[in-house]
Amino acid sequence: MKLIILGSSNALSSMESENTHMLLVGKERIVMVDCVNSSIHRLGRAGVDFMNVTDLILTHFHPDHVSGTPLLLMDMWLRGRKKLINIYGLHDTLDRMEKMMELYSWERWPNFFPIAFHHLPSSEQIQLLECPEFKITSSPVRHLIPTIGLRFDFKASQKSLVYSCDTEPCDEVVRLAQGADILIHEATGESMGHSSSEQAGEIAARAGVSQLYLIHYPTGEYAKDDLTTEARQHFQGEVGLATDFMTLDFS
Ligand SMILES: [Zn+2]
Repeated sequence: MKLIILGSSNALSSMESENTHMLLVGKERIVMVDCVNSSIHRLGRAGVDFMNVTDLILTHFHPDHVSGTPLLLMDMWLRGRKKLINIYGLHDTLDRMEKMMELYSWERWPNFFPIAFHHLPSSEQIQLLECPEFKITSSPVRHLIPTIGLRFDFKASQKSLVYSCDTEPCDEVVRLAQGADILIHEATGESMGHSSSEQAGEIAARAGVSQLYLIHYPTGEYAKDDLTTEARQHFQGEVGLATDFMTLDFS
């Protein structure tokens, strides 16, 4: 049972850092959180055959989070996938994703495999998925468009992790992360719909988590080197930068 960061950059990705998306690898289910660009390569490098992804959670309909979805679905279809894939998201996200697939005339892709769209209510702490190994909960967060943050509770290790997704500092994330071990919080910089690393530290302190990882931060030529120091101004726990292919074990 592990969580692999497939990308850690904000929307302006770089050679080293892909847009933020991640992968939860269990024995029975492989859950992708967001899907960007040509994601089969990153999945392969993470040791996962893209054909084995069982579930895809789309946090919000911005290109740096969902742009890879049509191509991933096409690649699965070209490899002869037959088994269903579950796709989860808010109504706003899934309606737009279906419209996007219509623009690609997916009804004319012969023998396309089944997709189950799971429309999530926009209220707090919705149970998104539960299986013998883990439970996933979603809550709305505060971004420019409807967006969800996620909580993962791992049954065997009794550990938990929360991912804020793109958001301003908000109480919804504090409540979602209450009692969690790890918070992965965005650190794009202080702006509408986003947070600074300092604000991420404040949220981690308010939620009482033990460990904070910053994600969705400026990389490449825009990189800043004081992000973790800024976060430590308000948070006493461990602070780190989530980086591409960083793996957290929850066995
Ligand atoms: Zn983003």
